[in-house]
Amino acid sequence: MAGSSVEELRESALAALAAATDLEGIQAARTAWLGRKGPIVDALRSIKDVAPEERRSLGLALNQLRDEIEATLGERERRLEEEAMSLRLAQERLDVTLPGRPRAVGGPHPLRMAEAELVHVLREIGFSVAQGPEVESEHLNFEALNIPADHPAREMQDTFYLSDLPGLLLRTHTSPVQVRAMREHAPNPLRVICPGRVYRRDDDVTHSPVFHQIEGLAVGEGIGMHHLKATLYEFARRLFGADVRLRLRPSYFPFTEPSAELDVGCPFCGGKGCRVCKGTGFIEVLGSGMVHPHVLREGGYDPARCTGFAFGLGIERTAMLHYGIDDVRLLYTSDLRFLSQFQGSEA
Ligand SMILES: [Zn+2]
Repeated sequence: MAGSSVEELRESALAALAAATDLEGIQAARTAWLGRKGPIVDALRSIKDVAPEERRSLGLALNQLRDEIEATLGERERRLEEEAMSLRLAQERLDVTLPGRPRAVGGPHPLRMAEAELVHVLREIGFSVAQGPEVESEHLNFEALNIPADHPAREMQDTFYLSDLPGLLLRTHTSPVQVRAMREHAPNPLRVICPGRVYRRDDDVTHSPVFHQIEGLAVGEGIGMHHLKATLYEFARRLFGADVRLRLRPSYFPFTEPSAELDVGCPFCGGKGCRVCKGTGFIEVLGSGMVHPHVLREGGYDPARCTGFAFGLGIERTAMLHYGIDDVRLLYTSDLRFLSQFQGSEA
């Protein structure tokens, strides 16, 4: 085979390769041109038939042609694979520029926010938190707090008694926690607050059978009404603002003597009188008084040596005043249209 024949072989090879436009065609062209029965191998075998002085240059030319065909096929194969990859990338593309779907995040309930605020303020004043069971003994809920069986308050506070467990009930106030705390600390001085859930059988527009209270108690030697008043005023000013109008008004509770209620100036009318304050310009927020000697004795203190004051308020009422809520039932109906309004607001 002469050099010119190698050039012809090359031209027909390149023409055939140009027609191979997919991976299958390339594989077929490779087998046809470079296989054991292909023209290159054929030509190499026939080298022995040419003149000895031409063998070397012919062998060189054929080897170069074989390398060229291999390189051309390899290059075309690589390009086809690249194109296939780009096509796949385009088809399976993820658009990461779309905004994510936000996950709804819950927030504290307005009742919990109000409770946290009350606890925070009272801790700053110097009280620590005490807790007790919601299922309470009749004795600690009533008798220990100077509410005997025939006391009218026992009827007033129509109670959930546990029929299977005589002597136990759902506590009607957090006051039994005060007795429990006194029994733990007597005869040492004591300053505690008792926040928690309480139960009564009322169920109407302004009353729920489950509600929340927070009570405070200070016991020690030489504690007087002036300590009560100063503490309550400081508490109310921290809670409602330094310029809030305050009024301490005589009242009656079985477990305190004397007793007083704290009123704050109506935030809805500024004191002029409105529907919420029933025209008085004040809203009652808190009951209080000097701890009754009977209660001190129940708690393990000697009323001749120790005195104390106590106060209690409803967390619902405080939340309603704080956030301007006019229906207590909104706090219990789990309506997200209502609850979501408190997201991100500070108690
Ligand atoms: Zn008012």
